[in-house]
This record gives sequence, structure tokens and C-alpha cells, in this order.
Amino acid sequence: STGSFWLTTLTVEALGDELARIGPRELLYVETANRQPPPRVAQLLQVAGGGFSVTPRPAWQFRPQEALETLRRQFGVKSLAGFGLADDDPALGVAAAIVSYLVETQCAGEDREKLTTTSSGHSATAPAASSQTTSLSHLQPPRRFQREDHLVIDQTSLRSLEIERTIRGNASDGSLLGVMLAGGDCRTSMGKRLLRNWLCYPLNNLPAIRARQRVVGALIEDTRLLDDLRELLDEVQDVERIAARVSVGRALPRDVTALGRSCDQAQKLAALLDQRPAMAEHHAAIAEVAQPLAQLGKTLLAACVDEPPSHLREGGLFRDGFDAQLDEYRGLQRDSQTWLSQYQQELIANTGIANLKVGFNRVFGYYIELTATQRDKAPDDWTRKQTLKNAERFITQALKEYEVKVLSAGERAKAREQELFVELCGLVCGQLPALRTLAGIAATMDVLCCFARRAVRCRYVKPEVVQEPVLRIEAGRHPVLDVILGDQFVPNDVELGAATVDESAKDDTGGASVSPATLALITGPNMAGKSTFIRQAALITLLAHTGSYVPATAATIGLCDRIFTRIGASDELHAGASTFMVEMTETANICHHATERSLVILDEIGRGTSTLDGLSLAWAIAEHLALRRARTLFATHYHEVTQLAQTHDNIANLHVTVREWADQIVFLHRVLPGSTDRSYGIHVARIAGLPGEVVSRANQLLGQLSVNHEISTTGQRVAQAAAKVEANEQMSLFTRFLEHPALDRIRETDLDALSPMAAFDLLRQVKRDMQ
Ligand code: ADP
Repeated sequence: STGSFWLTTLTVEALGDELARIGPRELLYVETANRQPPPRVAQLLQVAGGGFSVTPRPAWQFRPQEALETLRRQFGVKSLAGFGLADDDPALGVAAAIVSYLVETQCAGEDREKLTTTSSGHSATAPAASSQTTSLSHLQPPRRFQREDHLVIDQTSLRSLEIERTIRGNASDGSLLGVMLAGGDCRTSMGKRLLRNWLCYPLNNLPAIRARQRVVGALIEDTRLLDDLRELLDEVQDVERIAARVSVGRALPRDVTALGRSCDQAQKLAALLDQRPAMAEHHAAIAEVAQPLAQLGKTLLAACVDEPPSHLREGGLFRDGFDAQLDEYRGLQRDSQTWLSQYQQELIANTGIANLKVGFNRVFGYYIELTATQRDKAPDDWTRKQTLKNAERFITQALKEYEVKVLSAGERAKAREQELFVELCGLVCGQLPALRTLAGIAATMDVLCCFARRAVRCRYVKPEVVQEPVLRIEAGRHPVLDVILGDQFVPNDVELGAATVDESAKDDTGGASVSPATLALITGPNMAGKSTFIRQAALITLLAHTGSYVPATAATIGLCDRIFTRIGASDELHAGASTFMVEMTETANICHHATERSLVILDEIGRGTSTLDGLSLAWAIAEHLALRRARTLFATHYHEVTQLAQTHDNIANLHVTVREWADQIVFLHRVLPGSTDRSYGIHVARIAGLPGEVVSRANQLLGQLSVNHEISTTGQRVAQAAAKVEANEQMSLFTRFLEHPALDRIRETDLDALSPMAAFDLLRQVKRDMQ
């Protein structure tokens, strides 16, 4: 619909991720013998939940031999090298299959002839299509898209960070995109589409990010310019889609006038962008096309009325005075009343019948009407046309001729408007590249204005984006909750991968040497704000990569290659995987692919299995990620894991604070260094409305269990166990920590010194302890 054409080659694993980011409407695949989608496609469809349709296409259309020819013909070139594509690029077969499909479904008959390759592989004899205007001329040559040129956000992260839609609502409201769009900061449809694209494909290249930041900074400084630009953008319609509609012959009259008004803005846009060095590149691009666009705009607006009809069927698009021929046809129609009354006067004078009437009727056309009593007075050269109860209707040769002329004038006027419309569309097609530039610059400026407005309205700051793998956020806020909760939202800091100054380690020269934490373990009760904290770090990092300012008081963000997330239990039973299986698959993906340049967000790993399995997994995964030095925020309810900070230099503990007050807990949502050893699960259950008797029974049981299992020391035991495993002792990690105190008692007993009665007593005691 916009003419953009991108090619990429992916691994099968990455395909699902890219489809989620692209959000396609339709997918083509090579037809199979039974016309059913091949298993891989079927699987994708199942996971995507029917978000797009699939269309089988004949296998020969994907063949490389024909592909080259189809593409050369479509783009009117001898070689595709100019587009950065080798003649044997493996993606060409797919590109050609798409072109063939578009030709078949979008082109008018004659264009189809020009562009089609026959199924036998012989090309049609028509000359290169691009030299003429065909209905696919808005299709841009394919460009290669490299996944690595952007910050990679996989399907899981896209969903769990709620970038373009919320997990539950499945709508954009409440997502990152939703809040960025709310408030009308983005003015054009093109800007809104581009914003979605920037959020799903953030940059990972410093100069490009900084260039966007410079424009945002300039707009914040110059609010007058910002307002002027926004006002101008309000006049720019969806040039991208309209140009495409014109090109495929589906334009409506109002498309052309909308385009006229939009083109009219090109020169003003160039003038505004000329004011700031940060916008020099955008200015240069638009300045180059401003003149021809202004000319086109003038022509379109001069040709068309201000309020165009919704359809060309009835005509009425072109202004009077624009085309002499059209004016003549319209004149005939308009002046018919005058002509008829003159003719009536003439007939009365000639016949002496004072009350004869000349009229018009949709079914019978023009007629002369005499009353029944006068019918015999009709001259001989009148032809009887219709007899009514009290009247007789006649027609004359002159009237007949006039009728033909007037009636056909209406048809001819419509046909003429159609011709003129096609001519105008031709003019538009002649300026497609310039229109594309206007669309691109308008959309870009729209999103950058949106960033500037948000920065001012929502107190965002410019993040310092750097090469070093650091993440430092001061008083960061969650972009969505910040809007919903306003002042109620508690900002928090985060610092990863940055050298922190350890006072105790300061040497005489005042220098500090401490290994910076790359992994932070976040503990705290449910509902304390752990998920919010880690998500906000990810969202701020993502926003920084789009060139946007971020919700914080200061931020230094090291460039990332990927953002990985594993958040919450997403049940994908429809895809044939259990919740725990999904959790582990996603975690496996992270463990395999996270690098020092990645940001990893983990929430409650190991929840979907037994406590011991879960704790062991959480422990091992944290150790692994710390080793990889990926910047990681790991929220967990396994307090035992916090022991890792004692043995690993680059692991730090954070906890979300809670205040206990008269047997109640108050969530402070404040994240501070250190760990917590209480989960307050039962408090939270009470708040959630669990019946009083269940809550007090749970409290009772908790007390009992704490005594029996020495919960407070399990962490130390895990640490000991882990240390022993590391020392290559062949023992199970958790058999010891699971040990019951009764076992110690048995171990400590000297059996040889035990009387049968004492042995029986011991047995009784052990049994009691175990209850
Ligand atoms: P957890 O992951 O610890 O269970 P969540 O992150 O889901 O907790 O947060 C629970 C709720 O607490 C959120 O829905 C939000 O309303 C509130 N909340 C979280 N963080 C903050 C904060 N920093 N300031 C204010 N409210 C917060």
C-alpha cells in the first residue's frame, strides 16, 4: 500500500520474530500438492493466531531463472546490482513471486500484459515497464534489510514489553505505542505508522541515534518552530498511500485534492527546516523536490474544486474554466432551461396555442404538451409521443435533436472528467519519487516533533547513548504507568555495567577498583513493583535507541544488540507447549544468545515447576548470565539466590521496599540496594481478599514450617552446596539443604551407647518432629 519493498534472509527461528514485528496482512507460500500450507507455515499461522491470511502461489514463480527476468522487467533495469542485489541473490525468487502476485492482483489488464512473464518462462515482448506509467510504478525497487542493523526485539519481548499492544487487551491502548500516540503528539497517519516502525525497529547505530536526538533537542529549544511544524503537518495528508492508490488506478477525487494541498506544503516545510543545522539533511532532501511538488500542487488545486465529490461517477471534480471542452458540455446542461423557455415562446408564437408547454420527463425525455381539447391544433410535423387522460404530448425534430445534444452532454461531461482525471493521475505518477521524499520527511519530522512534545509535556530527558555496555538510569519512570499514576509513581534508579566507586576499596590515590555489577537480582514481595522496575529499564533502553528522550532525570544507555525478556507465564497451549516449557524455551534462547551487548530482563524464572527445581534453575541461570556479562535485571522470589552476590563480583542485590505497619504492609515501590528475606505472600493474599480463616491458617502453617525447615538458613546451605559442587564434590545440590533436622539428630546419635528404650524414644521424637 505504500510501495516499500524490503528483502531479507532469515533463519527459521527468526522468522516468527520478524513476522511479529512486521505484522503482515498476507503471506505467500509455494503451493503444495494438496494445496495445504506446508507444516512450517501452518505452525506460524497457529502461533500468529490467524492475524494474517496465506495464499499459495505456483512454484515456478519462485524459480530463480524466471525471477531475474521478472524483476528486471518490473524495474526496467538490465541488472539488479544498482539495488545492491546480486543476480544470484537467494531472495530474488521470493521477490519475483511477490511482483508476479501484485501484477496479477493489482494491475489493470493492459499493464498486466506489459509486465507478465509467461508460465513457460518466456518473457513478453513489451519494452521495460518503468519507462511508462504502469499501475505498479509506485513499487520501489527491493532493498535488503539486515536484522543486525537494528536493535533486535524478538516476538517474546515485543509482546511482554507491550510495545505495540497490551498482552491482555491486545489493543494499542496501554502499550508503549498507545501512550506515545495518545495526546495527539503525532499529527499524520504516516507519522503514526513510522512511530510504530521505529518502536519495533529501534536503531543500533550511534551516529543515527544522535542525529535524531539533535533534531528533538532543536525542536525543544525552539517551541515556535515546533508549533509551526505541527501546524504544517496538519495539512499533510497520507501522501504515501494516496500516491500508491493513484498509481494502481484506485484514487478517488478527494485523494487528488488532498494530494494537492499536501504538495502545497513542501516549500513551507523546506523553509522551516532551513532554520536549524540539526535538520540540514532533511532540509536538503525536501528542498530538492519542493519546486516540482509545488508545481504539482498548484496544478492539482487549480484543476479541482475545494469540496470534491466522493466519487467521480457523477462528475463535479473539475473547476469551471479549467477545460474548455468540459465547460461546453456543462454549459449545454446548465443552459437548457433558458433554451426550453425560448423554444416554448417560439412555438406559441408559431401555433397561436397560448398554453402549450415544453417539458422534460426522465422516462420519455423532452415533449410538447397540449391539453386534450387542443390536440387537433398540433401542426402536421409534430409527432405524437404519449397520450394522457387530459393531455397529448408531442415531439418535434428540433426538440429531438436538442434532447440528444443535452443528454449526451451530461455523459460527455462525465467522460471528459474521467479523461482529465486520468491525466492528473499521470502527472502525479510522474512525481512519485518526489512524493515519496515528501512523505518520508513529513513522517520523520512528525515523529521527531512527537518526541519533542512528549519530552516537554512528560518531563523526559535526553539519554546519553554510548558504546560502552552500561545502563545507568536516575529516577527512571515506566512510560505507561507514569502517565496513568502521575505523581503517585515512584521513580527508581538502576546502574549496571558501570564502574561504581567502592569507598572501602579506595586506595591512597583516591582511585577505586571494584568490578561493576552486570546482573542485579531484585527481590521483594509480590505487587511491590519488581516487574514494573525491570520493564521500565527495558522500555527506557528501547526508547533511547529510537532517538527519543526518556522518562528519567538522567540516563546513560550503552548500545544494545538485543533486548531479551522472559516475563510472566504466557500460556501457549494452543501452540502445543506447556507454560513451563514455554518459559524454559524462552530462557534457553536467552542463555544461548545473550552477549555482553544485550539487555536481559527476567521475571520469576522457574516458577512453573517445583520449588527446588525452580530455585536450582534460577540459581544456575543467574550464574550463567553473570558469566556472559549481559546486562541483566533478574526479579525473583527465591531469596536464596541473593547469596550469589557474595561470591560473584558482578552480581548485585536490589530489593523493593515495603513498610510493615500494624500487621499490614505498605508497598513503597522504592528499589534500594540489598536483598530481602521475606516474601509477604500471605499479606498479599489477604489484600487480594482471601477468606480470613484461610489467611490465619496459612500464617499458622508458615510459623510451623519456618521452625521445622529453618527457612532463614536455607540460603546459606544452598551457597555451601553450590560451593561444594564447584569443588567437584559429587553430591546433589539440594539433598543437604532439604535435610530435615531429624536427620541431624540421628547422625549425632551414638548408636552403640543407646539402650533399646532410648532408641525407641528417639524414634518417637523423630516421628513427632516430622509431623
Ligand atoms: P511485582 O512484579 O513485584 O509483583 P508489579 O511490578 O506487577 O509488582 O507492580 C504491582 C503494581 O504496583 C503495579 O500494577 C503498579 O500499580 C504498582 N507499582 C509498581 N511500581 C510502582 C512504582 N514505582 N510507583 C508506583 N506504583 C507502582
